Amino acid sequence: MVRINGFVYIIIGGAIAFFSNLIYNKTGTGSILLFFYVGLLFIAVGFFKVVSSLILGKKEKEPSKIGERTNSVLANMINKDMAAVDIARRSKGAPPANSIVSCPRCGTRHYATSNFCHKCGMRLR
Ligand SMILES: [Zn+2]
Repeated sequence: MVRINGFVYIIIGGAIAFFSNLIYNKTGTGSILLFFYVGLLFIAVGFFKVVSSLILGKKEKEPSKIGERTNSVLANMINKDMAAVDIARRSKGAPPANSIVSCPRCGTRHYATSNFCHKCGMRLR
């Protein structure tokens, strides 16, 4: 929205400068030059608005990018931690956390970390 405003300023300023210059060339009255400078001022304000909106836009976008990056870094670190824990488990001889065993009595499937069957109470290990 701000960027469109800036471009509108530039267009208005350009039109004012153009027409006042046109009138000055036709009539030769010096007072019309005031309008020409007003037009230039409009263009300058428009440029300032466009540039500032671009800078502000970048400033608004960057924190979220950094946030996403830190999130993915954190996720990576957590994943690495989980993998390290899993490797430690395996090296101790324990089954990995995500492996599944079925109950010898009723066949209900359980994570290998559970000691008893949740359905019939049979000891699993
Ligand atoms: Zn069971």
